[in-house]
Amino acid sequence: MGEYSIGVDLGGTNLRAAAVDDHGVMLEKISGSTQLRAGRDAVIADMVDSIEALRARLGEHSLAGVGVGVPGFILMDKGVIVGSNNMPEFEHYPVRDDIERRLGAKVILENDANAAALGEKWMGAGRDVDDLVLLTLGTGIGGGIIIGGRVLHGTVGMAGELGHLTVVPNGNPCGCGNTGCLEKHASATAISAMARLIGLGHDLTAEDVHKLAVGGDEKAKMIFRSMGEALGVALANLMNIFNFPLYLLSGGPLPAWDCFAPAMLAEVQRRSFTYRNAPTRIEKATLGNEAGLYGAAYLPFQGRVSG
Ligand SMILES: [Zn+2]
Repeated sequence: MGEYSIGVDLGGTNLRAAAVDDHGVMLEKISGSTQLRAGRDAVIADMVDSIEALRARLGEHSLAGVGVGVPGFILMDKGVIVGSNNMPEFEHYPVRDDIERRLGAKVILENDANAAALGEKWMGAGRDVDDLVLLTLGTGIGGGIIIGGRVLHGTVGMAGELGHLTVVPNGNPCGCGNTGCLEKHASATAISAMARLIGLGHDLTAEDVHKLAVGGDEKAKMIFRSMGEALGVALANLMNIFNFPLYLLSGGPLPAWDCFAPAMLAEVQRRSFTYRNAPTRIEKATLGNEAGLYGAAYLPFQGRVSG
C-alpha cells in the first residue's frame, strides 16, 4: 500500500475520522457522536482515539499526516479556535498542539467549511478547476474559498467567512454583531425562522417548508424566493470579486434547489457583469457531509507538496 493520511471532521453532533490514500480512496472510516457535554478533554481524547485506531489498523510508517477540520475561526499560526459558538471550551485553547502531543504526530488544523471546499476540489464537484467557492448551508452558512488549489486563509486564517457577508442592509441581527448576514437570510435556520415570522408555522424545519412549497403553499414559496435572492446577492458579489469558474452549494436545503434557484439565478444575472460575460457555473457540491473528511485528509498531502 502507498501512503495514506487521516482526516478528522469535528462537528457539533458528529465526530468522524477517515483514512484516505493519496489517490483519494477512503480506506476506513470511523463515526461517533461528539460528546460536547463531557467537556473539551473528552472531545480531544475521542479525536485522538479515533486517529490512533486508524493508525493502528493501517500502520504508522505509511501515515503522511493528520488533518483536523473544526468549526470556528482558526488562527493558523497558533493552531487555536476562536468564535466557535457551540464549543466555548475550545476558545483560544491550543487544540492543535494538544492533539499533536497526545498523538506524537504532526497535525494540521483547518476550519470545517474550508476543509469541505478543499475536499470538493480534491475529490468532488471541483476536481476540474483550481479556483472555487463553496457555501455550506446548515444551521449557519460556512464558506470556503479555494484559489490556485489551496484554501484562501487571509492574514491569520479568518478569510472565507461567507455566511457573514451582508446581503440585506439592516436585515436580521446576527451573533457576529452585524445585521443582514447571509446566514440570517439563507441558512436552514433562517428558513425555519422566516416560516415562524410570517405565520406559516412554528417549529417547521427547512424540509417541512420545502414540502409545503412543493405542495403549492404561497408563503413557503415566498420563503424560498427570499432565500434565493439572498444567495444570489452574495454569489454576485463573490463573482464580481473573484471571477472564478465554479461556485458550489451544499447542505440540508439543497433538495429545495428548484424552489430557490430561479430567484438566485435571476439576482446573479442582474447583479453580476462577470456572470453575464464569463463562463461561470453554480452547482451542487457532490461529496455531501464527507467533503470535510476528504479535505481534512488532503491537508497533509498538500502541505508536503508545496510547504
Ligand atoms: Zn453575521
